[in-house]
Amino acid sequence: MRVVDTARRGEVTIRDLSKSFTLNGRRLDVLRGIDLDIRGGEAIAIVGPSGCGKTTLLRVLAGLEEPDRGDVLIDGAPVHGIGNQRAVIFQEPRLLPWLTVAQNVAFGLEVRGTPAARAADRARHYIRLVGLAGFEEAYPRQLSGGMAQRVGIARALTVQPEILLLDEPLGALDAMTKLTMQEELARIWREEGVTMILVTHDLEEAIFLADRVLVMSKDSASPTRLIELDLPRPRDRSTPAFVALRR
Ligand code: ADP
Repeated sequence: MRVVDTARRGEVTIRDLSKSFTLNGRRLDVLRGIDLDIRGGEAIAIVGPSGCGKTTLLRVLAGLEEPDRGDVLIDGAPVHGIGNQRAVIFQEPRLLPWLTVAQNVAFGLEVRGTPAARAADRARHYIRLVGLAGFEEAYPRQLSGGMAQRVGIARALTVQPEILLLDEPLGALDAMTKLTMQEELARIWREEGVTMILVTHDLEEAIFLADRVLVMSKDSASPTRLIELDLPRPRDRSTPAFVALRR
């Protein structure tokens, strides 16, 4: 079992969070009155039917959308907008095609003002961590889908976030690559000690990767519900039960 740093690093508190959109003049309540506590270093997965608001919640947590009401607190302090504590991994890594792997990974740090040499060092470290040593000078067009997504993961980790937000990160990959990448994500989560919030359609992936799996559902009139699945304990991903579950 992994020992989590207890200094509340990466603890997320969501209070009475609501978000609506206006579409063709009509108001669409997507998130309503969400309360959720996530411990620092915990891995949680959110599953649920298409359109129930999973991505919207992740985008609000990332600071890419402003909530209408409610608060997101990280380690007890309210956050607004994007910030260095959080990094997002999307389904498509959206690499810059004119930059090499190393430059793509270092880019996020450089725009945050890290000197180029330091950014390059850190980028090299995370490129190795995701298993892409030797591909630093390759261009995105020379990579497979799985490799490109590894670059996306390295790019997110390079800013050393406390919280990693993943929106269907493996959704575009073939079945075999997906399995390998699930192992990779589990290892990275263990080694980096980040809080991980994963949105996925894949219940098996959710059960494999997360300490807690929350099923999101909503009808138009009531608050958003996040119901926790009853998962086998202990949540040690190396137990035979887990390995069996994945076959
Ligand atoms: P999920 O990730 O669970 O599939 P989303 O969070 O993507 O759901 O979307 C929830 C609802 O919010 C959908 O009905 C979607 O059409 C709507 N929605 C999401 N983003 C916007 C937006 N920027 N403008 C208008 N409607 C949106």
